[in-house]
Amino acid sequence: MREFDLVVIGAGPGGYETALEGAGTYGMRTVLIEKEALGGTCLNHGCIPTKTLLHSADMYRQMQQCSRFGLQAQTVTFDMGKIQDRKTEVLDSLRSGIALMMKQKKVEVLKGSGRILDPHTVQVNLTGGESRTLDTEYILIATGSKAAVPPIPGADLPGVVTSDELLEKRELFRHLLIIGGGVIGMEFASVYRSFGAQVTVLEALPRIIAGLDKELSQSLKMQMKKQGAVICTGASVKEIRSSANGELECVYSEKEELHVLQADGILICTGRRPYTEGLFDSRFTLETERGRIVTDQNGQTSVPGVYAIGDVTGGMMLAHAATAMGRNALAHMKGAAAPVSLDAVPACIYTDPEIASVGLSLEQAKEKGIHAESRKVVMSANGKTVLSGQERGFIKVVFEKETERVIGAQMMCARASDMISEFAMAIVYGFTLRQMYSVIRPHPTFSEAITDAVASVK
Ligand code: FAD
Repeated sequence: MREFDLVVIGAGPGGYETALEGAGTYGMRTVLIEKEALGGTCLNHGCIPTKTLLHSADMYRQMQQCSRFGLQAQTVTFDMGKIQDRKTEVLDSLRSGIALMMKQKKVEVLKGSGRILDPHTVQVNLTGGESRTLDTEYILIATGSKAAVPPIPGADLPGVVTSDELLEKRELFRHLLIIGGGVIGMEFASVYRSFGAQVTVLEALPRIIAGLDKELSQSLKMQMKKQGAVICTGASVKEIRSSANGELECVYSEKEELHVLQADGILICTGRRPYTEGLFDSRFTLETERGRIVTDQNGQTSVPGVYAIGDVTGGMMLAHAATAMGRNALAHMKGAAAPVSLDAVPACIYTDPEIASVGLSLEQAKEKGIHAESRKVVMSANGKTVLSGQERGFIKVVFEKETERVIGAQMMCARASDMISEFAMAIVYGFTLRQMYSVIRPHPTFSEAITDAVASVK
C-alpha cells in the first residue's frame, strides 16, 4: 500500500477544494502542497481581493449618490490604506478558515514546492529548507496560472504593474492606463473610476470583453464611458517610456495613427498563462500544448493516475471551473461518474451593473448551426431595479427555436452574478422556456425579470 492516496500540488480553489473533498467525502489520505499561501490566486491575488475593493468602491459611489434616496452625508471620503487593511482582514479570515477545514478533514498541508519525480512520487522542497518525498496513488496538479506580460518595450519600467501589484497599492494612481479590456481590466477600471481617478483602457481587439456576447460588450463600453472612463478599441500598444515630467508615456496605434498618452500608472492585463515552473523532474514528462497541461474530460493527463485541473489546463480560467474539474477528477479516480456538468460554466464581471453570461450567445449558437432565437427584457419595468435606483440593464435568454430549450443567457443588471445560476441549472437540465416560466419568483426582486424573459413565445 502506498503512503498516501492523493497528493495535490497547489492550494487554489481547484487544489484545496479537491483536497478537502478527497479526504472528507472519499476518505483519501491526502496531502496538499502549497509554495505560497492557501487559497491560491483566487484568494490572494484574484477573485476575493478584487471583489473586496469593488465592494468598497460600490459603497463609496452609493454614498456619494445618497441624496437621491433622501439621505444626507456631509463629507464622504475614502482612505485607500484603510481599504487595503480591510482587504487584508478579509483574506486572513478566509485563509484561516481554509487552514481550519484542512485540520478538520485531516488533510496534511505542506508549505513548499512540489516536484513530480514519477507518476507515484512527489518531492517537496519545504520552505524551511528540508525536503520530503511522498509516495502516492494519485497526483493532482492544480498549479494555476500567472499574469502573461507581452514583450512591450518598457513593460518593466517602474509604475507599470500587473494585477498582483495593483491589488497591493495603498495609494491610487491619478491616471491609470489599462492595457487589455478583458474582465480583469474592466473590473479595475470600475474600481479606479469609482474612486475618481482618470482611467483609459486600450484594447487591441475591436471590442472589450471580446469573448462575451456583443451586446454585453457594447453596453459595458457605453456604461464605462458614462462613468467617465476613456475606452479605445483597436488600439495596439507599441512602447512604454518614461516622460520628461517623471510619468509614463504609452505609445499606441489606432486606425493606423500613432498616439501618445501620459499616465502615472499602467496596468498590463492582457491574459494569463498556465504555470508549471519547476513542477516536473527531468525524468518525468506529460503532454502539454503551448504551456497548458492537456487532459481528457476526466482531468486525467497523458500519464495515468496523474490529473490536472483549473487554470494550468488553459480554457476557462475561473475559480468555480477549477473546483468543478477537481470534483470530476476525484470521481474518476474512484470509478464514479462525473458529478458536475462542465457544459454550462457561468462567467461574471463585477462592474456596475454586473455582467453575467452562461452557455451560448445567439451569435455562437448560429455559428454552431443551431436554429436559435433570443428574447430580451430590459430592467426598466422591474420594481426592484427602479426602487433601488439601479442602472437600466437587460436579461437575454437564448433558446432553440423548435423546442424552446434554453441554451444560453446573458445579463447586465444588479445581482446578475447571483441570478445567472438559474440559467446554468436550466441549461444543465435541458429546461424549456415554459418550464422556467412555471416557477414562481418572489416580488419584488430582480429575478422576477427572469420570468418576463422566459415567458413562452409559443
Ligand atoms: P490558482 O488559484 O492559481 O492556485 C494555484 C496555486 O498553486 C498557487 O497558490 C501557487 O502558489 C501554487 N503552486 C504553483 N506551483 C506550485 C508547486 N510546484 N508547488 C506548490 N505549489 C504550487 N475567477 C473567478 O471565478 N471569479 C473572479 O471574480 C475572478 N477574479 C479574478 C481577478 C483577478 C485579478 C485574477 C488574476 C483572477 C481572477 N479569477 C477569477 C481567476 C481565478 O483566480 C482563477 O481561475 C483560479 O484561482 C484558478 O484556480 P487554480 O486552483 O487553478 O489555481
